[in-house]
Amino acid sequence: MNILNTSFNTTYNTAPFSQIKDTDFLPAFKVAIDSAKQEIEAITNTLEAPSFENTIEALEFTGQQLDRISSIFFNLNSAETSDIIQKIAQEVSPLITEFSNDITLNEALFKRVKAIYDQKDTLELTTEQHTLLDKKYKSFARNGANLSEEKKNKLRAIDKQLSQLQLTFGENVLAETNNFEMLVTNVEELSGLPEGVLEAAKQLAESKDKEGWLFTLDYPSYIPFLTYADNRALRKKLAIAAGKKAFKGDALDNQKNVLQIAKLRFERAQLLGYKTHAHFVLEERMAKTPQKVEDFLEELLVKAKPAALREFKELQEFANSLDGISQLEKWDSAYYAEKLKQSRFDLDDEKLKPYFKLENVIDGAFKVAQKLFGLVFEEITTIDKYHEEVLTYKVTDANDELVAIFYADFFPRPGKRNGAWMTSYKPQFIKGDKNERPHISIVCNFTKPTKTKPSLLTFNEVTTLFHEFGHALHGMLANTTYPSLSGTSVFWDFVELPSQVFENWCYEKEALELFATHYQTGELIPMDLVQKIKDSAAFHEGMQTLRQLSFGLLDMSWHGIDPTSITDVKAHELKAFEGTQLFPDVKENCMSTSFSHIFQGGYSSGYYSYKWAEVLDADAFEFFKERGIFDKEVATKFMENVLSQGGIEDPMVLYKRFRGKEPQPDALLKRAGLMPSN
Ligand SMILES: [Zn+2]
Repeated sequence: MNILNTSFNTTYNTAPFSQIKDTDFLPAFKVAIDSAKQEIEAITNTLEAPSFENTIEALEFTGQQLDRISSIFFNLNSAETSDIIQKIAQEVSPLITEFSNDITLNEALFKRVKAIYDQKDTLELTTEQHTLLDKKYKSFARNGANLSEEKKNKLRAIDKQLSQLQLTFGENVLAETNNFEMLVTNVEELSGLPEGVLEAAKQLAESKDKEGWLFTLDYPSYIPFLTYADNRALRKKLAIAAGKKAFKGDALDNQKNVLQIAKLRFERAQLLGYKTHAHFVLEERMAKTPQKVEDFLEELLVKAKPAALREFKELQEFANSLDGISQLEKWDSAYYAEKLKQSRFDLDDEKLKPYFKLENVIDGAFKVAQKLFGLVFEEITTIDKYHEEVLTYKVTDANDELVAIFYADFFPRPGKRNGAWMTSYKPQFIKGDKNERPHISIVCNFTKPTKTKPSLLTFNEVTTLFHEFGHALHGMLANTTYPSLSGTSVFWDFVELPSQVFENWCYEKEALELFATHYQTGELIPMDLVQKIKDSAAFHEGMQTLRQLSFGLLDMSWHGIDPTSITDVKAHELKAFEGTQLFPDVKENCMSTSFSHIFQGGYSSGYYSYKWAEVLDADAFEFFKERGIFDKEVATKFMENVLSQGGIEDPMVLYKRFRGKEPQPDALLKRAGLMPSN
């Protein structure tokens, strides 16, 4: 019996990683798809008249085994992949796409769904059921259920091609990241780099039987190098290598993939009756239309640009006075910004890192969650993990009831993609009288411990951990009936609210006191350092905002127009970047070819949502600050109206119920120093 096709029978019903062989996946997927097909057939073949229960709800609970296998498999493909897993992904993805297309293009099924949708106003449904009905109907309509046979076939062909292209795009980026190494054998060329960075680079070289110091495009190697290395030529070499990912005209080049993906997405949107891909996407967003998004980005651009230009000029003068740099380049940005920040705030990452030992920071996030929501995290060693470095916890509430199982995977490995993310291995839902609790995971790429030092986080890594942990709370505290509306299954421009709001606690004295102690002396982080962290948080906020806006505008430039006449990726990108670039362009670099967010993942027409959510998070945190950052009443309101509610209602309704009013950008502009506070 294939373990993946069983009900696991493990502690807390967790994924039985140690019993799964790579070769189990493909056959397990096939079996699960077959049984999901039978479940669908049972719904369409029934002689009963369509009802919410026998159609919408029944449909919601089909394919649960398939979902479970998919989440295990695709989570592994992100966090612990291999050539075999990647090869299976290439085989499996079209099967899954085909299966989900079979559902959404199933006319008999759609007829039943539509019959219920058409009487939605006369049915006695709960709010959550109304949302589910609407979502199910749209999942058909937005996938072509109302199209002619010929157009349906065309749509299927496009979807198949798109899923393949997006996978290839991601694989190329990963391969490009892994293929690059910079070996330095003369330590004098590495002046400026902190001891810990040197040690990690030396260990990496040793692990590959090389003499010297090895640097890669993995963030924990790349970011400190660009921030601290005095050697401008080497900074340039590394930065250009990063910017050149999948833009070399070789087999791993993504230019054709980018053009094809943009064109196919447009074609798909047109087929469904939308003007562009962005129109299609934004219909199911809080923002609703491309115009609203563009206005939003433009408004912030107007507010941020003067500050950005001022900051850039100041940075240029600083670099000039320090090293006679007459033209700042991209590879100078982090380096001189760090030096300027140091001179102004006397606060560098290396000074802070001893107070942020990874174990202490995790514990701090747990303590904050306990104070706010009464959650208790207890490490458990009795469940399977997919890698020995993964930490596993049992999460309970104040009544000792199980809330969730929590996985945390912190360090980079060759099979892990860059960045940090939250995901789940099992969703939350209520069936019968059983509230099934979720299995949530966060995956990061933090600085590894060395032989002599534990993992000490930069402040940026601390906020990253809190960010992902905020997503995890959204998943863990979920309390909805239907899995497809549970946890982080919300509109995409709402999904970053819980994560980003949680970052705010990292800047607060009361929270830092809970965990920011020196890893050697146990001394609490000095309060003047805390004040400096706060003061420096708005440092270069104009430039940072401009950068984020440029990504959002680039995204809209690919998806908010008809892209069929675009032939030159780089030229198009330059045009989209007009008005947002401070540094000279690097000819051999291109952002789009490794912009995984929008071309591999699902953030197309959605990059703006980071800023959108910042407006929300600043506004939400303002509420906490008014009452005290550990105020139980505000925390409970947040838990009851946002964190537990998933996507059961329009996000604006949920937000207003928590906050008492609509969000305003003022709190963000004030926090970012882009508006004079009064
Ligand atoms: Zn996030």
